[in-house]
Amino acid sequence: MIIVMKPGFTQEELNEVVKAVESRGAEVDKIEGVATSVLGLVGDTAYIDPDELLTFKCVEKVLKVQEPYKKANKLFHPEPTIIDVNGTKIGGGHLGIMAGPCSVESEEQVVLIAKAVKASGANFLRGGAFKPRTSPYSFQGLELEGLELLKIAKQETGLPIVTELMSVEYLDRFVEDVDVIQIGARNMQNFNLLKEVGKTKTPVLLKRGMSSTIEEWLMSAEYIMSEGNENVILCERGIRTFETATRNTLDLSAVPVIREKSHLPIIIDPSHATGKRDLVEPLAKAAIAVGADGLMIEVHNNPAKALCDGKQSITPETFDEIMKKIEVYTELEGATI
Ligand code: PEP
Ligand code: MN
Repeated sequence: MIIVMKPGFTQEELNEVVKAVESRGAEVDKIEGVATSVLGLVGDTAYIDPDELLTFKCVEKVLKVQEPYKKANKLFHPEPTIIDVNGTKIGGGHLGIMAGPCSVESEEQVVLIAKAVKASGANFLRGGAFKPRTSPYSFQGLELEGLELLKIAKQETGLPIVTELMSVEYLDRFVEDVDVIQIGARNMQNFNLLKEVGKTKTPVLLKRGMSSTIEEWLMSAEYIMSEGNENVILCERGIRTFETATRNTLDLSAVPVIREKSHLPIIIDPSHATGKRDLVEPLAKAAIAVGADGLMIEVHNNPAKALCDGKQSITPETFDEIMKKIEVYTELEGATI
């Protein structure tokens, strides 16, 4: 539910409306929008009678929000959210380019890749320390050692770190060491994990579940936001369809659909979406052209020998070419990296 206030209301009038809402068991979310005249109601609004709210002189109108997500809803926050990761921004025309190896394999590897992607224009280092592998016999990541190596690469380059958290067990370590906590596709509906990252202030990169609808994805964002952490970046990484030519099917329409429904930034991961390195360039271009707020791209110095996702990994040289080729699309969109 949204309360649109009449212009020129006083603080006392506002307090009375807030009191009435809270006494019925709901909460008033931040006041946003034009001339700070809109109140968003969250929580249980079942006992709130819109007609009663209309009896307050300062209330212009009361709108019902049809969608089950509230804090993630554009109606609650009409302006695009810009997430500030210690000075690097994503959203509202600021592109986040996250690049790095699927798995951190050694200090030499991650530092080399970090330096290369930075020189090409990436503004985040993305590397996996804890890897959610389909097979228990596949390389599971260097885990805490991988996290230490990411920190070294950050020290060497200044690039903020994005890495996946799979269990609440390591949440405190991640809050301490990581700039953006990635929640992977397989954990998009791990609601306990979502609630716990929601209790922190660390920005969260929420990947779309491989068989999740956009509404389910936004409800997962709502889980994080409802706990107080509103720094959520969405990442489309392809969905399961009948098509087998690519690893997944990249749902590019998710970008304009999310734009219509939510204020949260959304980036595209063409690497996991296709599973094929030759498709990374065309879909990276398309992602920027369709209005995405950034990209996540897997880069490896020796893709043939990568311990994870080598087939979709591109070399630092190819990454450099792609970065040059997307410049024109970035300019057309009026965006900056
Ligand atoms: C990843 O980003 O390394 C990853 C495993 O991706 P996803 O969760 O999208 O499958
Ligand atoms: Mn990967």
